[in-house]
Amino acid sequence: MPSATAREARRLTGTTLVLATHNPGKVREIQELLDPFKLAVTSVGELGLPEPDETGTTFEANAHIKALAAATASGKPALADDSGLVVDALGGDPGIYSARWAGPKKDFALAMSKVEDALQAKGAQDRRAHFVAALALGWPDGHLETFVGRVDGMLVWPPRGTRGFGYDPMFVPDGYSQTFGELDPAHKHSISHRADAFRQLVAKCIARGA
Ligand code: IMP
Repeated sequence: MPSATAREARRLTGTTLVLATHNPGKVREIQELLDPFKLAVTSVGELGLPEPDETGTTFEANAHIKALAAATASGKPALADDSGLVVDALGGDPGIYSARWAGPKKDFALAMSKVEDALQAKGAQDRRAHFVAALALGWPDGHLETFVGRVDGMLVWPPRGTRGFGYDPMFVPDGYSQTFGELDPAHKHSISHRADAFRQLVAKCIARGA
């Protein structure tokens, strides 16, 4: 499939968009990012649609699965985000398994402890990490547009801050001293991996005031 940069991307022409995520932190962040656009946004959770199995081996593949499942089930364009924390010294873990490291109770204090324990077990001095977000916009006819964003930073221990979600309290973005858990959410939105992917998506697929 040619990339969105090599050809004209398909634009969102309707006024309704389904968010293909059950993660309340992501729903909140994506709704805030979509705020300037005249779109009626609903989520798969509100529509009672099930979560498909994330069987892909990349962030992009999992975003495709979620976007197409939501678009075909709802009959409307759907936006999916697959994202995670990639830790250099852990060979890229937890990566696409970032949500799973939190276990069935979605306990991110536990997930952050697992990351720290794995770094300690390796005696790793290198604490570099980045967040990746793959955004996929899918249509009921199977068409997809995909955009990938990232933000680089450093892991700290113990975690700090109660804002944000997931691994935010242990991630300090480059150029900052506060973690994503401490930073003002509006500020996180301006520099995050999701914001990076979102800017690309908006430029190619969403007209301001659409
Ligand atoms: P998935 O994309 O739903 O499979 O899950 C991605 C997981 O990565 C989330 O549950 C979080 O644990 C983590 N993650 C993704 N984006 C962020 C972020 O902005 N801050 C903190 N953790 C994140």
